[in-house]
Amino acid sequence: MLIAGNWKMFKGPGEAESFLSAFEPPEGVEVVLCPPYVSLAAAVASGQTVYAQNVHWEASGAYTGEISPGMLAEIGVQGALVGHSERRQLFGESDETVARRARTALEAGLGVIACVGETLEQRESGDTELVLKIQVEAIAFVAGDHERLVIAYEPVWAIGTGKTATPDLAAEAHGFIKSVLDRPVLYGGSVKPENAAELLSQPGVDGALVGGASLEPDSFAAICRAAASSS
Ligand code: PEP
Repeated sequence: MLIAGNWKMFKGPGEAESFLSAFEPPEGVEVVLCPPYVSLAAAVASGQTVYAQNVHWEASGAYTGEISPGMLAEIGVQGALVGHSERRQLFGESDETVARRARTALEAGLGVIACVGETLEQRESGDTELVLKIQVEAIAFVAGDHERLVIAYEPVWAIGTGKTATPDLAAEAHGFIKSVLDRPVLYGGSVKPENAAELLSQPGVDGALVGGASLEPDSFAAICRAAASSS
């Protein structure tokens, strides 16, 4: 089981250090923290496994505001998220840019958690599997079944909304994704200490990508304990 915490644009280095001094993850679960760029070094210093929230597809160049895989590796960051729905919806990420980011990061030896998921409109019009297939195939095309690649299924309508996919619906989507690409699949979308055990016990659910509930050391540790008991 892998539990990743995406802090989004929360916690500068000072707040990151406070979190890390209070956070006690259990044995038996792989934990990844994804702080904002400025807090990566503080998180690495804590000894936790740290991923960035994004990564560029070139090693260097005129790409204002971007960070390359080699720069992340140099400070001890072990991987990156790519294709988070906030990147896709608010910052114009396409399946192509997500795939390029994933490929370069994997080639540089980083781990990658590649996010996919349908919007409410796509689900309601019956297009969930079509959308997932297109998104996952774009990543599979460049990365194949690379051993450091993990997929995160995050239905967009469940992110930060308090709405969670039912366990059955999550299991169905995870099964479908694995039929397209045989890699571990994390569930993401309003995972909390109260619903983690049930979601994590579903077939095909190999862990969770947690947003809001990863910001407090106690709630994130509780989710990690739920994962350790379902392993
Ligand atoms: C996320 O940001 O990836 C996420 C799943 O957020 P939340 O847990 O807050 O829904």
